[in-house]
Amino acid sequence: MTLEAVKETRGFETEAKQLLHLMIHSLYSNKEIFVRELISNASDAADKLRFEALHNPDLFEGDTELRIRVSFDQEARTVTISDNGIGMSRDEAISHLGTIAKSGTAQFLSNLSGDQKKDSRLIGQFGVGFYSAFIVAERVEVLTRRAGLPVTEAVHWESGGEADYSIATIEKAERGTTVILHLKKGEEEFADGWRLRSIIKKYSDHISLPIIMTKAHFGEDAKTQVPEDETVNRATALWTRSRSEVTNEEYNEFYKHVSHDFSEPLTWSHNRVEGKLDYTSLLYVPARAPFDLFNREATKGLKLYVQRTFIMDDAEQFLPIYLRFIKGVVDSNDLSLNVSREILQKDPNIESMKSAITKRVLDMLEKMAKQEPENYTTFWKTFGQVVKEGPAEDYANKEKIGKLLRFATTFTNSPEQDQSLDQYIERMKEGQEKIYYVVSDNFNTAKNSPHIEVFRKKGIEVLLLSDRIDDWLVGHMQEYADKHFQDVTKGELDLGSVETEDEKKAQEAAEKQFEGLVERMAKVLGDDVKEVRITHRLTDSPACLVVGEDEIGSQMRRLLESAGQKVPAGKPTIELNPTHPLVMKLDHEADEDRFADLAKVLFDQASLAEGGHLVDPAAYVTRLNKLLLELVR
Ligand code: ADP
Ligand code: MG
Repeated sequence: MTLEAVKETRGFETEAKQLLHLMIHSLYSNKEIFVRELISNASDAADKLRFEALHNPDLFEGDTELRIRVSFDQEARTVTISDNGIGMSRDEAISHLGTIAKSGTAQFLSNLSGDQKKDSRLIGQFGVGFYSAFIVAERVEVLTRRAGLPVTEAVHWESGGEADYSIATIEKAERGTTVILHLKKGEEEFADGWRLRSIIKKYSDHISLPIIMTKAHFGEDAKTQVPEDETVNRATALWTRSRSEVTNEEYNEFYKHVSHDFSEPLTWSHNRVEGKLDYTSLLYVPARAPFDLFNREATKGLKLYVQRTFIMDDAEQFLPIYLRFIKGVVDSNDLSLNVSREILQKDPNIESMKSAITKRVLDMLEKMAKQEPENYTTFWKTFGQVVKEGPAEDYANKEKIGKLLRFATTFTNSPEQDQSLDQYIERMKEGQEKIYYVVSDNFNTAKNSPHIEVFRKKGIEVLLLSDRIDDWLVGHMQEYADKHFQDVTKGELDLGSVETEDEKKAQEAAEKQFEGLVERMAKVLGDDVKEVRITHRLTDSPACLVVGEDEIGSQMRRLLESAGQKVPAGKPTIELNPTHPLVMKLDHEADEDRFADLAKVLFDQASLAEGGHLVDPAAYVTRLNKLLLELVR
């Protein structure tokens, strides 16, 4: 059977084509990273082989010394990276190299803007590892044989990175993968031993298996050249080294290897734990969110090793879901090499590792907030929404999570979420006992809510909440540092001892004065309201709506309704501002019809100011127009 007889040409998926093209252009300024990406894949392949060989030692085929070999040929203009790892079968080569099989590719591509600068940042989130070869190569050959398959079932894959690739069956004695890059004209610089060595040192020193290059030197006769193998990298697992020995650059490069992310992490935490449980963790906070951060099926979790042997990617059992953005490794000395996902779920030691690792992460974030506020700002913008899921999932760490939260407040009046609860508490007024907040669908409605008028007047800070998750968040927080959260739109206004005796007296007097108005209004509004009452929470608006302390707030109600849930109709209480001219004049309105119109308009307006929907908007417009008619000339 000739080679050609089984050769087949296939087209890349359209998506792969688009992505390839974009990547080649956007990563060009950093083209040497192809070395890192191919070595990273070779290292993953060695990890996978070691893992599979735990159950099936035959896969080693008598060769247990795993290594990566890098060579070059100046004349032929090639760079070759080969490994004796797991290799790929024909089907695997097709699905791993010919398609971009990751879910969400289409969605990712639709997010591209056409602006190369922006898009190249997006590319980083995606991780286009293998394809980076095409930045410098006009043609890439992959010779691969999956460990355990007969030597006659190896694969030759080849592509120019344009429209298609070819795949053929070949013989290959050694298992594993060899990638041959045929460099483009102008990229000869990479077919150079010194250059390749320095790139490997820079990006791949942390790789735990040896990366070998051949150095030619003169033999004993001082004439003939004899090749000599040389290990270019340090070849020890980075996390096994002590912190003081590892440079920031090495931590950064290791991050890129484990996360498949192109950008640098914001921070990391590297710890060895000894005692009842013995393990090492190296945890990173990424600077960018993966495109599928809010996709429930997205991969998450740490890379798990047992005594330096890779066991699995995406081990989800070591972190709670609200910390799903954390990347890194955990290497345990206690777990069995046979550990599986099912065992992890049941092992009580995993629970205690999880809670220790969770604390590490929370401490690392707190430290970043203190020591690197700019990084923390980036962090909060990227992952704040996810951290807000925390108090509901991890009640035990509620206070620690509370420290990490950032909000928009009336202190800055800016939509930027950059104020902590500790800052809020420090600024609390003498006598203030609660943390006040208002929730709305958007920042502006929250900021302009009539409910916070009195708070502004008295200089009491209010958290301005407008993220979908906020109501849920405060609902689960309930309190922070012994201070209760209080929704300013719920229940009777209670400013604690911030209110003076005089003010309380004035309020009582106003209630007396407007008793009649309250009664007439209650009659007109009937079943639409639970109660009508006089308030002093308003300074500029004539009226506002409040809901009972135990009822669902308006944001939560809309959220549930939009999710198709039936929410029992709660009746609001309307509160009137006794100092507002409209209210004062309304009290003197003798015409009952006119009074009814005005009262209903006030009620509907209060609902609108809250961002609510009117039950009967047409009736509102009709009434308002009737009143307007008296004004137009
Ligand atoms: P990633 O490494 O993020 O999965 P890559 O584009 O770098 O993405 O690689 C795609 C896939 O191709 C890998 O997940 C792996 O299955 C396969 N692959 C690439 N290089 C090798 C290799 N040297 N040995 C075995 N499989 C490989
Ligand atoms: Mg890769």
